[in-house]
Amino acid sequence: MKKVTPKKRSLFKNKTLIIGCGRLGSSMANKCSLEGKNIVVVDKNPDAFDRLSDAFGGLTMVGDVTHLDFLQEAHISTAKEIIITTGDDNINVFVAHIARKIFDVPEIYVRLDSPENEVLLKGLAIKAIFPFELSYDKFNVLRGGRK
Ligand code: AMP
Repeated sequence: MKKVTPKKRSLFKNKTLIIGCGRLGSSMANKCSLEGKNIVVVDKNPDAFDRLSDAFGGLTMVGDVTHLDFLQEAHISTAKEIIITTGDDNINVFVAHIARKIFDVPEIYVRLDSPENEVLLKGLAIKAIFPFELSYDKFNVLRGGRK
């Protein structure tokens, strides 16, 4: 495991850990960072971090979240919340289970592209995010909030 400097260690405490820096993950990272939250965003592809805005003030880490040692390197154990947003429901559900069962992260949010996968989170107090619902909400805002 890599050595973490004291300055970095304080950034890792009480943080929001965002998994995947695609469209959803980067947009959450940019918004959470603007709100002043302590953010660590991880992605297996370093180019993904190009989506972060110039104002992003958090940490980025390159690695594969299906490897437990990488999740530990990202200090998952001290995260106050984790937002899991890769484009693969299987990976997202897997990481969510690890976050709950092994590290007991207080707040866990998971992107699911297929609503039928929500059953895989049953009884674990994990909240599902459905990207299609987010766009529907946006559409409703565009049409003046009418349902
Ligand atoms: P998108 O599907 O465009 O929203 O992007 C999802 C992001 O998740 C991409 O930037 C991927 O590189 C990232 N991603 C997918 N699988 C993994 C993984 N196993 N570990 C870390 N990042 C991943």
